Amino acid sequence: MSFDTTKLPFLNFRNEKQFNDQIQELKKYFRRNENALIEVFKRGDELKEIFIEMDPMLQELTQKICPYCGNVCCANRHGLPEFADIVAFLAMKEEPPTYKLNVDLRAICQFLSNNGCILPRYRRPYRCTWYFCEPMLLEVDIGPIKRYKEFLRLVKALAQKRGELLQAFYQIYKEYK
Ligand code: SF4
Ligand code: SF4
Repeated sequence: MSFDTTKLPFLNFRNEKQFNDQIQELKKYFRRNENALIEVFKRGDELKEIFIEMDPMLQELTQKICPYCGNVCCANRHGLPEFADIVAFLAMKEEPPTYKLNVDLRAICQFLSNNGCILPRYRRPYRCTWYFCEPMLLEVDIGPIKRYKEFLRLVKALAQKRGELLQAFYQIYKEYK
């Protein structure tokens, strides 16, 4: 199941106060509606498990290809979340990271260290896991068939579960808005 995230509010990282207020308001909403959101939390647990399960494979792939990349994809612009990412963090019972917004959006992401991203995969924006560059897809294509199949299974499971989570959230949240 895919979910159209444009149905959710726009999280405006160009306005620091508005950005932080929106996140605080969403955190309050999750605290106040814990019982109504039981299905959302359940899907949050399942989503987190899929992130954890796919992380070693993606780590192996990025460790192999990224050191030779001339066009590193981890820029600040990509490390900033959309509203749906904050929903997913809270559904997984994870605190959203603290974001510095006064940064060059094209510069290397504030969360990138010499050893890669400092955030666990489930605390990164979804696009950080969902984006597959050509060298990575090629590596999956020419690699072992077992890994190829596992890659496809996990990518599908991740998209499906995130869609379910956001849909379950939206059904309740749209009444509130
Ligand atoms: S994931 Fe792809 S585009 Fe991003 S740094 Fe690695 S090789 Fe480069
Ligand atoms: S993977 Fe981490 S370092 Fe890269 S853009 Fe995403 S948050 Fe930033």
